[in-house]
Amino acid sequence: MRLTSPRFNTNARLQNTANNNPPMKYGSKGLYVRHVQQALIDLGHPLPKSTKKFNTPDGIFGGETKKKVFDFQRKQRLTNLRFGVDGIVGEQTMDVFDRLLRTPVTLPPIPTVGGLTDLNANLAQSLINVLSHPGLLKIRFSAMGVDVSPGSYLMVRKALQYGEITAEIHKMPANYRGVYFAQDAQHKTTNAVLIYANTFMLDFRSANTVLQKVTVIHEATHAFCDIRRIGRTGTTAFTRDQSESVAHIAQATFHRILTGHAETDPFGGLNPIFQKADVLAQQVLAKKPLSNKFLADLHALVRQNRKAFGSLNTTNFNGV
Ligand SMILES: [Zn+2]
Repeated sequence: MRLTSPRFNTNARLQNTANNNPPMKYGSKGLYVRHVQQALIDLGHPLPKSTKKFNTPDGIFGGETKKKVFDFQRKQRLTNLRFGVDGIVGEQTMDVFDRLLRTPVTLPPIPTVGGLTDLNANLAQSLINVLSHPGLLKIRFSAMGVDVSPGSYLMVRKALQYGEITAEIHKMPANYRGVYFAQDAQHKTTNAVLIYANTFMLDFRSANTVLQKVTVIHEATHAFCDIRRIGRTGTTAFTRDQSESVAHIAQATFHRILTGHAETDPFGGLNPIFQKADVLAQQVLAKKPLSNKFLADLHALVRQNRKAFGSLNTTNFNGV
């Protein structure tokens, strides 16, 4: 079922839960679990253990959450004999939440899900630091039908803080520094979810170098396009290639802000995409409207450059 409540329908993993793909159950973790826990609380099933530590749901689907899901489902069954009582959150349970709770809620951030020793949590914090860079105030432009502004990056920063977007460290295929997953990536044959939607996949533990920082801005630009539901199949005419062009302009602009010059491709020589993006970056920094000709040139180069990302063994890959 399609979620329609603004409280739930911006979270890709909750939408997957509502499609039973996969359902949420004992052992699940993350912001989407926090939303279900908050829904249970708001519908009269308090979770004292799961809220004790942070004074807000902890995002861990443990024994208490499972019990309260059972309680909630039993209550539903009194009026609907076909309602399943299994302690697992899937289509039927999400459907009731979606109908009963129509107002968005903002859950307060909880400190580094997984604890301070969690490398991925440290990476997320490092991305938040890059996204707090004062230089981002200079990035403001319109291209390919999207307005990029400091507010765009603030939105991504907040999403990371609240766990709406996660970051994971992975060994990347050659020539890749980062990928943003707008949709789940599943294994070609088993369909197991390998990378969940709304994930930064990066090959570094913390963004310390210029190369890493500009990579964060590149992927954050994709994330921003995705938050606005731009570039998703079947929503608008905006494509992944357009998101890629916009990401390159933002990357080139941030590189100039950090270093005062254009980026050279660390994987070999002069990258024509970087060169073209840098010309546009200079226009951004000069607060000039972007040249349509250069935009078209950049976009053509980006389209040419698109490569399959096959080494992860994934189907329905929608990373950028
Ligand atoms: Zn990209």
